[in-house]
Amino acid sequence: MKEAELRFRQIHLDFHTSECIESVGSGFDPDEFAETLARANVNSITCFARCHHGWLYFDSKAFPERRHPHLQQALLPQQIEACHRRGIRVPIYLTVQWDYYTATHHPEWLAQDGEGRVIGTPPFEAGFYQTLCVNSPYREFLKQHTAEVLDQFPTDGLFFDIVWPVPCACRYCREKMLAAGMEPSNEAARNRFGLETINEFKQDMTHFVRKRNPECTIFYNAGHVGPRHRPVKGAYSHFELETLPSGEWGYLHFPVTVRYARTLGLDCLGQTGKFHTSWGDFHSFKNLAALRFECLRMLAHGAKCLIGDQLAPGGRIDPDVYRLVGEVYGEVARKEPWCAGAQAVTEIGVLTPEEFTGGAVGVLPEALKGATRLLEQGGHQFDVLDSASDFSKYRVLLLPDHITVNEELGQKLEGYVAGGGSVIASFASGLDETRSRFATELFGVTLAGPGPRDSNGNLVRGKPFERHDYCEYLRPQGEIGRGLPATEHAMYRRGMAVGAGAETEVLAPIVGSFFDRTYRHFCSHRQTPSSGREVQPGIVRKGRCIYFSSPIFSQYNDNAPRWCKQLVLNALELLLPEPLVRHDGPGTLQVTLTEQAGQGRWILHLLHFIPERRSETMDVIEDVIPLFKVKVRVRVPRSVREVAVVPEAALVPFRTEGPYAVFEIDRIDGHTMVSLTFG
Ligand SMILES: [Zn+2]
Repeated sequence: MKEAELRFRQIHLDFHTSECIESVGSGFDPDEFAETLARANVNSITCFARCHHGWLYFDSKAFPERRHPHLQQALLPQQIEACHRRGIRVPIYLTVQWDYYTATHHPEWLAQDGEGRVIGTPPFEAGFYQTLCVNSPYREFLKQHTAEVLDQFPTDGLFFDIVWPVPCACRYCREKMLAAGMEPSNEAARNRFGLETINEFKQDMTHFVRKRNPECTIFYNAGHVGPRHRPVKGAYSHFELETLPSGEWGYLHFPVTVRYARTLGLDCLGQTGKFHTSWGDFHSFKNLAALRFECLRMLAHGAKCLIGDQLAPGGRIDPDVYRLVGEVYGEVARKEPWCAGAQAVTEIGVLTPEEFTGGAVGVLPEALKGATRLLEQGGHQFDVLDSASDFSKYRVLLLPDHITVNEELGQKLEGYVAGGGSVIASFASGLDETRSRFATELFGVTLAGPGPRDSNGNLVRGKPFERHDYCEYLRPQGEIGRGLPATEHAMYRRGMAVGAGAETEVLAPIVGSFFDRTYRHFCSHRQTPSSGREVQPGIVRKGRCIYFSSPIFSQYNDNAPRWCKQLVLNALELLLPEPLVRHDGPGTLQVTLTEQAGQGRWILHLLHFIPERRSETMDVIEDVIPLFKVKVRVRVPRSVREVAVVPEAALVPFRTEGPYAVFEIDRIDGHTMVSLTFG
């Protein structure tokens, strides 16, 4: 069951402020502060109790020594009071694993690696990233501090920052591990214990908070939400997806993450920033078009919006920033009635390899990124799942490259297919934990061998090589090859060596090169050309399952060969001939569908903003490139009474063709919402 819905227009107001800066809060005026927010259509703002420097921004009886030494006036209580008078929520920020004051005064509470070194910023580098251990007495400080905040302030929510698993070897962790019968010298055991520790900490802290405040929102931030959050989701009231596209997250992290997080049953919030780059980028501005895209895309995925800002030390928020925020949040406010309570309408479930390979900021599984890019460009409606998800809601499951199948998952997949579901799998998906055999006969293939090894004896299958040393070729044909010439297409990463069973239909073969590229034999600058010899199946079909021997999703993420996308979209066409949405717009048009069940309508979001690599380090959006006369078909579950562009309430003529409502949208200026009302 969902907690109360989150507010749509939020700010996270960072305030990590050095003790070397004086006159902190000297320019703060509570009414000016809250008025500026209200004018900018903000209805929730996360403000600071305690920052990464370790300083408090209120008068503390419990820990007066931690009050910022140059704080001219207590900011937090005045921020809360002035905002509450205007109906603005104020969740409270508390740092957990990064706290420079504590790290300096209690070095014995710091987490240590297996060599006994502090984890995080070394002593002669700038930064407060030394990691504190929540198994140390620091936890008791955190509780007393949290209790004081809850006692002192009307608390709408608590945002605990930096709460992630640490493979700690400090004395407290070593003692606890030994007591639990775990071997602390073993790195894998420390990793396991680190995850158990942080989950137990979250449960413990939520229990502690709930005894004092049964209603406030609670979130523990780690910069990423993924399958490791499923077992501990009870400690959260909602998920905030920290994913600043101009920061280390990039533009792909949000869709990958929200498509998973929203399936866990809690309301989701997307976080971006007003910064040109990322947190702490003072006096910089995000381009308006980019901020529009980032917030409107959150709506399109059924999430609420949050923009990160950082308060200047004087305590006065920047009116120019809030003009920018106000413009975007004005548009969000107008569109909200078509987004409130909206749930994504999807039909494809993509299993995430993160469950098997791990994931965090900057290390999302490449196959999942490739699948997300490819399906979004194809206009498909999909969620990201793990093996514990309910598969029955989906028409097709996609297992990209690295979905390990144990006995339990194998049976679940077989039941899903027996019940009418379809599966697309690739490369190592379907192999058991030993990676030496397929755990299921669903895909109609058997492993023929491990495939070639490099000169050090390591398997080369699935790995990228700069000069495509182990490239092979795929020859499309028939329906799977629609739109592609029936000739060799390079598959740069070596696929799985497989053979097809008797009832398996080979849709396209793999054609080998003359030889692999090594110092013993090579040809030209890159991969060796085709020998023309078919060596094994490349794409096979058995009933409602299609299997690709190549790591086609990782390959698409590497360098986006159009043929890889076309082959997967063709496979989907075979298994899902009537997808939810089709359009004739370009591959840069993002299309999502949501349902407002209470209002008896679906909302189609059409988003067209193009992130461009205008610099060495990041993607930038400056322009809105309008699209004209886009034809759209939506497969509707019942008869449609009215199609309209909202909130403008401009009726759109439509006709019904089989299961589809068919219409044309005159113009898309970045974002258009179309409501399809049933009845
Ligand atoms: Zn520890």
